[in-house]
Amino acid sequence: MDKTATKEYETVIGLEVHLQLSTESKIFCSCANKFGEDPNSLTCPVCLGLPGSLPVLNKKALEYGIKAGLALNCSINPLIKFDRKNYYYPDLPKAYQISQYDMPVASNGFLMITDEDGKPKTIRILRAHLEEDAGKLIHESTCSLVDYNRTGTPLLEIVTEPDLSSPQEAYDYLQNLKLTLQYLNVSDCDMEKGSLRCDANISIREKGVIKLGTKTELKNMNSFKAVKTALEYEVSRHKKVILAGDRITQESRLWDESKQMSFSMRSKEEAHDYRYFPEPDLVPFVVSDERISEIKASIPELPFTKLERLIKEYKITEYDARIIIQDNAISDFFEECTLHYKDFKKICNWINGSLLQELNSRKTKLAQIDLGALEFTKLIQKIDDETLSNLAAKDVLTHMIDSGKSVDEIVKEKGLSQVSNDSELEKIVEEVIADNEKVANEIKEGKESAVGFLVGQAMKRTQGKANPKKVGEIIKNKLSKSQ
Ligand code: ADP
Ligand code: MG
Ligand code: ZN
Repeated sequence: MDKTATKEYETVIGLEVHLQLSTESKIFCSCANKFGEDPNSLTCPVCLGLPGSLPVLNKKALEYGIKAGLALNCSINPLIKFDRKNYYYPDLPKAYQISQYDMPVASNGFLMITDEDGKPKTIRILRAHLEEDAGKLIHESTCSLVDYNRTGTPLLEIVTEPDLSSPQEAYDYLQNLKLTLQYLNVSDCDMEKGSLRCDANISIREKGVIKLGTKTELKNMNSFKAVKTALEYEVSRHKKVILAGDRITQESRLWDESKQMSFSMRSKEEAHDYRYFPEPDLVPFVVSDERISEIKASIPELPFTKLERLIKEYKITEYDARIIIQDNAISDFFEECTLHYKDFKKICNWINGSLLQELNSRKTKLAQIDLGALEFTKLIQKIDDETLSNLAAKDVLTHMIDSGKSVDEIVKEKGLSQVSNDSELEKIVEEVIADNEKVANEIKEGKESAVGFLVGQAMKRTQGKANPKKVGEIIKNKLSKSQ
């Protein structure tokens, strides 16, 4: 039997994430840093790479880089330097990219994930460095067009050590990284707009072997899911090649989403191919400890610290807490609600249910709508005191978001108050019984399960305004056997 067929292999993955920083202007000039403008409308001699123009580092981009580095548990380097990475591309007009080589903003950090056995696992972050983005090429049938608006967009490249052991771990790392970065407000982290891009390096090695196998680099995935699928594909491709007795070639490969396959793009450059040298137009510099402390102080409570605190402080389930921390505006909103209303589980249900549904269906975020925590808890209160049915309350929430009006205004305007008045309800129940004689008789015979049907009819008749609990009681009273 072929000996290699029984060998066990393990997967090794390292990720390089490029994050566009959401500064007002570009990294080395004062052109606006904006997406979706007319092609080549956001350019100047600096970002067009015209001779004689000089770069000036954007203070905000540096601040964001330091902020992200600190949030990822990195040390900020005592001396920060920029370097030229030389390569020619039509969308890189200077024929070099200003990047950082041996003295990046931040290095030696980590981010936690949960491994496949549910245990916490540390993923080491090798470095985070600042650089400029290139422009964009648009390929037409007979020619290619270039748009330099993106040229000079500040990027932070975050590189892990090869600590990830499966495509699933890579996926989890990306999710945790994105969430952390979103809390920092340094980028919109939108993969569809290209604000967050990921190159994935993968190799396999025989179990027990320490030396890393030859890696390939995957590019062009446009969602986290695609990163995972591409890695799964690439792991099995590596295995096939090796089991066939061949060798993996070190190269960059493009992921083709429609074919669900990776294709060789180019053999991988080594660092020395880029002829890195210090950028002579930007001197190395030191960021003072005071400034670093200031930036550190501006970092909010990060999502996983918050997760644990919410569970402990409000005794809510981990499931609920995990949903709430997906957006820091939502978790802040939750905490504000708890100041006005004490059934925390109910707040979670309303946020994670109806509120998120409203936001998703409008494709918007909480921060973009006008909804106060106090009004939101008043709405829940109205269900408790039986002014509103659950259904009516959902309707009110929709109107609150649409109009920005208060709960009371909407309830009054729409006449949505729940009918709890006994005589009114009695009348409605009598009508319902008269219209549904057969079911009413079954209930009289003892078929309690049919009560719900009549309650439903009463709700329908009142457009959801009847108090269902009371209706049920009245029906049972009227149709009980003794009568
Ligand atoms: P390159 O110079 O080719 O860009 P780097 O050493 O900078 O390579 O590493 C880039 C990324 O690839 C890092 O995230 C690193 O962890 C990962 N990596 C390096 N070697 C391997 C390997 N053999 N298998 C999987 N990932 C690797
Ligand atoms: Mg690299
Ligand atoms: Zn410019």
